[in-house]
Amino acid sequence: MESSGSESQSNQSESSVCLDTDPLCDNLVRQLQQSLGDCLNDNCFPDDPVWPPGEREKRMEQRQHPRLGNTLWCLCGNCIAMPTIRESVCCREVEKLQKHYNEDCTCITTVLDMLQLCINKHFLEFTIRNSGRVKLRQLQDDYNRCMRKGAYRSFTTWTHGILGPKTRIPIPSCVVRLVRNNYPDPHGHYVGFREATDNPAEDMAFEDTF
Ligand SMILES: [Zn+2]
Ligand SMILES: [Zn+2]
Repeated sequence: MESSGSESQSNQSESSVCLDTDPLCDNLVRQLQQSLGDCLNDNCFPDDPVWPPGEREKRMEQRQHPRLGNTLWCLCGNCIAMPTIRESVCCREVEKLQKHYNEDCTCITTVLDMLQLCINKHFLEFTIRNSGRVKLRQLQDDYNRCMRKGAYRSFTTWTHGILGPKTRIPIPSCVVRLVRNNYPDPHGHYVGFREATDNPAEDMAFEDTF
């Protein structure tokens, strides 16, 4: 019994370490294994980039989505291609704006009430200053960006009323275009349909500071 037990141990040792029974070889292999650490659970490429959960699927969806890279979804004729699906919204798709459309008015950017309250320079300056969120110096230093934020915020309130801080509703692409045309980036950082220096309009509308 004893001899069969020790034989089995010896066989195990041979098969798991080295077929060669040379003790010197055994020793070298053992040292090598120890220096490598836990090979089975070791991550061979610990610095390999890994997609955050859902990110890969999101990018694939965006690449293939029929709204991206075109304005085929626009019903008002004034929208521009936007960098994300969420921003690719036409004013005609917004339920709360439907009351403004008729034979003469096919786009919200032609509604006088909206232009007066959300785009008009003097009114917008007054609204921004009156909000208490920006000092005169800030407005002067970063005028067009402050005006874009103010315009997006005014448009959101004009359309949907006062929203909670976590409720964000995309601003129609035609309105974004109008606001950018009226208050462009002073450095002209526009790359194709992307405006590199601007955040999405809906985010700008809800930023706490101007
Ligand atoms: Zn449109
Ligand atoms: Zn429109």
